[in-house]
Amino acid sequence: TINSSKQAIAIEDQYGAHNYHPLPVVLSKGEGVFLWDVEGKKYYDFLSAYSAVNQGHCHPRIKEALIEQAGTLTLTSRAFYNDVLGPFEKYITEYFAFDKVLPMNTGAEGVETAIKIARKWGYEKKGVAEGQAKIIVAENNFHGRTSTIISFSSDGNARKNFGPYMPGFIRIPYNDVEALKTALEDESVVAFLVEPIQGEAGVYTPAEDFIRQSSEACKDKNVLFIADEIQTGIARTGSLLAVCGNCSCEGHCERQSTYTKPDMLILGKAISGGFYPVSAVLADNHIMDVIKPGTHGSTFGGNPLGARVAMTALEVVRDEKLAQNARKLGEIFRARMQTLVDKYSILKLVRGKGLLNAVVVNDSPDSSTAWDMCMMLAENGLLAKPTHGNIIRFAPPLVMTEDQLHDCCDIIEKVVKAF
Ligand code: PLP
Repeated sequence: TINSSKQAIAIEDQYGAHNYHPLPVVLSKGEGVFLWDVEGKKYYDFLSAYSAVNQGHCHPRIKEALIEQAGTLTLTSRAFYNDVLGPFEKYITEYFAFDKVLPMNTGAEGVETAIKIARKWGYEKKGVAEGQAKIIVAENNFHGRTSTIISFSSDGNARKNFGPYMPGFIRIPYNDVEALKTALEDESVVAFLVEPIQGEAGVYTPAEDFIRQSSEACKDKNVLFIADEIQTGIARTGSLLAVCGNCSCEGHCERQSTYTKPDMLILGKAISGGFYPVSAVLADNHIMDVIKPGTHGSTFGGNPLGARVAMTALEVVRDEKLAQNARKLGEIFRARMQTLVDKYSILKLVRGKGLLNAVVVNDSPDSSTAWDMCMMLAENGLLAKPTHGNIIRFAPPLVMTEDQLHDCCDIIEKVVKAF
């Protein structure tokens, strides 16, 4: 058994592949917005496992559903039907207003699934010549770690020495509708795959009308608009989905004028509240019907345990009005961070939407300033992680209260002041 942080770090270091560089904090317990390390020190979580625990750690309602289902039926494979998958499929498609869902496990698998559907649709519905389908993606995208997905990444670390790379992708600058329109001139393009806000890249929020205009440009050319909302979805940005625009209603927003309906929607992370890996691709029948028995699948995808957990996690988002809370707290957070940016020259800017925000540190991406700040934040009881050297992402669970948020902003101010 582990009884000190030092011991836990040493074991991971010796026996685990070194594919991450974690902050030296060893966590052993979580509840709501709080985490505790093995020494019993309490922290505010300001990462939410990369936005997978929007509902807060160990949410009691999701826990209860998981335990009950775990004692009843966990996995049948899709060789047979099970009595939870159908109700989950009905629930999630009504929730997000699509005809059909294809359930998978991790985010990267969801993205792979969307890529496969888009290509098959391109050949069978659009009439693209066999083997020629192209998909447009954005510079600085993050869609996961599979060999196909890293093939169209612009991150050197993610790509280097993992080739040969999958062909068939066109990379254009993010937030550039003109570049998109130029790329769409190629008739073998079947889809545009994009994050409505680029999370991993450092919370890059595009122009207000980027999503709407991109979707319209795609429609003009009979190209599928695919939104990867694995990080931005499920209330994180102050609406149920980032493509809902400035609407924080509890529904799927289809009737709201701010909503842009993607042809395919990819969800993961918080769809299961951090309990169990579940991802999903949603689309209407005219797209999803290219998938026939034997063309795609997964042993665990759509299993009753995951289906039950995901359904409950989505109920929590709606019942606890997490989109509204994220919107309200996001505004308070950015206002407080802006006063720090104005006051302290070590901070360059704050940006984001809802409770997906980032502060850019006024130092070079090669400097250790953001890392050092995160270390001091941890000492002061708040866990956040730098991304791309000088950017700190701030993304707490959406169940945070206003008082807790102010408490956190006080901690951040105290640390910033010290730099
Ligand atoms: N897409 C986006 C936008 C993400 O942020 C992530 C994870 O950070 C993924 C895909 C990959 O998800 P997973 O790590 O579950 O494979």
